[in-house]
Amino acid sequence: MPFSEDLLPISYIRQHCFCPRIPWYKSVMQFEPPEQAWVTQGKAWHSAQEQLHKQRLPQSIDEPIIRKTNCYVKDLTLGIHGYIDEFNYNQTQGVVLEYKSDMAKPVASQKYQLSAYAMAASRHFNVKIDYGILLKGSGYKQFRIKVENKLKLEVINIIDTVRQNMSKASLPTSSAQESKCVQCEYLRYCNDR
Ligand code: SF4
Repeated sequence: MPFSEDLLPISYIRQHCFCPRIPWYKSVMQFEPPEQAWVTQGKAWHSAQEQLHKQRLPQSIDEPIIRKTNCYVKDLTLGIHGYIDEFNYNQTQGVVLEYKSDMAKPVASQKYQLSAYAMAASRHFNVKIDYGILLKGSGYKQFRIKVENKLKLEVINIIDTVRQNMSKASLPTSSAQESKCVQCEYLRYCNDR
């Protein structure tokens, strides 16, 4: 992703929901722990999905459709940017698709991240985006998420909180329990865990 001191990576939204310390470690301390095996596996899985999903695209907007994978978007008004797994759009409408390896019902952090991508893509490509789709597992489970105003406001509040945290010198407080910490790449930096 292009480096930017002003734009917040959209991935920080999901990471903040997991634990507010993670975006702080990344942006303020610039800590980049060695990649864990499960992260490497996750990247390989993601790349395999691009080919698989070509056959299973939801017909949700009118042809002709342009399909982009690993699609870069930025929104200068919200101050966010990132790469969408897949973006389908025509002249007036777009649909954001995110690939997730789990098969469970969408959780709040997944909805927030999807909505942030939709908000950025809408501005970047100047198209209307009413909903996004979470393709779960190997694409057999599709969850349509309506990008409604309530969700957008919650995303804006999270962006604001992440920015506030990033402006402070002290480590953000975290309510993360052991079940989260044991799977966290940043555990070595959290001396209180
Ligand atoms: S180890 Fe726990 S408290 Fe520390 S960053 Fe990870 S999830 Fe947060």
